[in-house]
Amino acid sequence: MSSGLTSNWSNFPKHRAQVFSATKADEVCTISQNVHEFIARGNGRSYGDASLNDAIVSTLNLKSPFILDEENDIMIGGSGLLISEVLESLIPKGYFLPVVPGTKFITLGGAVAADIHGKNHYEAGSLANYVVAFDLFDGEKIVTCNKDLHSKLFFETIGGMGLTGIILQVSISLLKINTAFFKVKSQKIKDISQLLDVFEINKKSGYQAAWLDIASHQTGQMNAIYTYGNFANVAELDENQMTNPLQNPIDKKFSVPMVMPNFTLNKWLLKVFNFAYFHLHQPKSNIVHLDKFLFPLDGMKHWNRLYGSNGFLQYQFVIPTGQFAEAVEPILSEIHKSKEKVYLAVLKRLGPAHKNAVMSFPIDGYTLALDFKKTKGIFTLLDRLDILVTNAGGRIYLAKDARMSAEIFSKSYLKTVSKNPKFASLLSKRLGLN
Ligand SMILES: Cc1cc2nc3c(=O)[nH]c(=O)nc-3n(C[C@H](O)[C@H](O)[C@H](O)COP(=O)(O)OP(=O)(O)OC[C@H]3O[C@@H](n4cnc5c(N)ncnc54)[C@H](O)[C@@H]3O)c2cc1C
Repeated sequence: MSSGLTSNWSNFPKHRAQVFSATKADEVCTISQNVHEFIARGNGRSYGDASLNDAIVSTLNLKSPFILDEENDIMIGGSGLLISEVLESLIPKGYFLPVVPGTKFITLGGAVAADIHGKNHYEAGSLANYVVAFDLFDGEKIVTCNKDLHSKLFFETIGGMGLTGIILQVSISLLKINTAFFKVKSQKIKDISQLLDVFEINKKSGYQAAWLDIASHQTGQMNAIYTYGNFANVAELDENQMTNPLQNPIDKKFSVPMVMPNFTLNKWLLKVFNFAYFHLHQPKSNIVHLDKFLFPLDGMKHWNRLYGSNGFLQYQFVIPTGQFAEAVEPILSEIHKSKEKVYLAVLKRLGPAHKNAVMSFPIDGYTLALDFKKTKGIFTLLDRLDILVTNAGGRIYLAKDARMSAEIFSKSYLKTVSKNPKFASLLSKRLGLN
């Protein structure tokens, strides 16, 4: 057991916690006998307080088993395995996870607990569609769950943010691939309705997202770079790529060496960066390793340190398709009226919600993720945005949240998981889930 200040990816909030580590299922049961209330923590890649509490059980060392069942195209993995570790084994065998988020440094347990979505959500849905079964420690015993066996617990756990228990191992059905390369196209767009049209045209196949320069927004207009990609065929690869179509990426990553001073990122740097990024971008069509397209932010390790010791907040919301174009204008105006700056903005198209996963985030609509520095004024601004988002029928992603009120939560998430007094987090207490 260790103890100290703990935080997740956005370094806000920081909470003094006792962290227990388990390497096997029975160790989780033993810890539970001695700790009154706790929460599972995977790799701390949620942004806010979802995996924080006074007592935390780190699942990072629950790495076994790892089994690839090629007869049924299924993998079984310990919940502490990172997606990066799993992909390293799967890709050379011609397999991939059907849903991946924007970083591969999350655990399988964290992926299930957040019911992650990717750039292909419209077509593929969330991870809930591919979870075959898992073993869960429910505070008393280990329960094997699938859609037929303990099905209520199964669908409360997927997207349940760790509040139903500790996932010990999980089996997931896999996607077969012929290459580890993506055929990628990008396009500069300045008109918001044109951008949404492009998303609609391509939504039924492939992976898509857009980078937005929020500061450039004027009613109906905004600088955006839209990217679309899909797995390339062997015949589309160049000579070099063809020597090993199912290769893992070469690990050449730049790392931010330390937590930077709080002034490192500022509005002037942001303006220059956004201007240059948009205007120097050459629309192109090319073939790149899937890592470059699906996990671009992983190219810079510890990029969260750029925000300094105060940390930052990501505000990710989804608004139903029909309401988005109208609702986004007042949201962006509210941001412009405040002094707060958006340092990164990404737009994605989500498809229909999962029918059974109780607290899963995605609904048919557009999801916008906005990164802000943690300043004095940010909380007032985000409280105002909450009202605009929920009035438009939208909701905020729990895996990114650090400050939403219980009232806003209950207005936008109509169903919640059953209470289990053993499992609680700062997030669940704040949202009135315990
Ligand atoms: C750069 C970046 C990009 C991202 N992009 C996306 C994206 O595109 N789509 C998306 O959906 N998400 C995205 N995320 C969010 C991320 O996928 C989720 O927050 C995920 O849950 C993090 O997993 P983790 O292993 O780090 O878990 P943690 O952050 O440690 O925990 C997250 C939640 O999972 C629970 N949990 C973790 N392990 C277990 C377990 N074994 N049993 C039960 N509960 C458990 C925790 O209690 C907590 O509620 C992104 C995050 C980052 C940093």
